[in-house]
Amino acid sequence: MVRKIYVTYNDVHKLCQESAPHILDKFKPQLMIAIGGGGFIPARILRSFLKTPGSPNIPIQAIGLSLYEKLPSKRANDNDDDDMVEEAGTQVTRTQWLDMSTLGEMSNLVGKRVLIVDEVDDTRTTLEYAVRELQKDVEEARAKIGSDAKTEFSIFVLHNKDKQKKGHLPDDILHGRYLAARTVGDEWICYPWEAGDIDQHDKNAEDASKA
Ligand code: 5GP
Repeated sequence: MVRKIYVTYNDVHKLCQESAPHILDKFKPQLMIAIGGGGFIPARILRSFLKTPGSPNIPIQAIGLSLYEKLPSKRANDNDDDDMVEEAGTQVTRTQWLDMSTLGEMSNLVGKRVLIVDEVDDTRTTLEYAVRELQKDVEEARAKIGSDAKTEFSIFVLHNKDKQKKGHLPDDILHGRYLAARTVGDEWICYPWEAGDIDQHDKNAEDASKA
């Protein structure tokens, strides 16, 4: 049976809070790109902690990516109605991409520091796809405007699973601009926004912390 980790809204808040100083210090993002749906809430919380006095909030753009699922979902526990454990697919589908019309001066991403936010780095397929496609957009824009300004992508995830990855990230990102608030084993993480019964979810988290 797959072991499950229950993460509460408070946990998510605190993971973002404790990671923000490092992100501000090392990545200095000018724009966040949240991968939906799991990256939305962490990105919003992070935004508050990344705000510096006298500067505007860092804008958040959303992209929607989903790993194509060929197999029906299965449950981690037979006696548990919520928190389905999903079968990972192999093919990423875009369900939403950048809205250039609302990006203003960020519209071409060229020369910008961009923080990609997601909730979990599991097989890394999604992050690899996001970085590759965003870099392609940047290269196109760079060619169009004839600029050689460098765009720096960095990555923040709440959890990185310590396992063999299928996806790969450029070395400069992985070894210089990648932050996971926590590294965990190959377990199933139950996030609060997926819970059918949030009180039971919080109770499961509390019980696990006492065990
Ligand atoms: P990837 O395998 O591409 O790194 O992750 C793909 C997506 O699968 C993640 O963005 C997330 O939505 C979902 N996923 C992977 N592992 C977990 C997990 O342990 N818990 C939850 N809730 N979703 C996960």
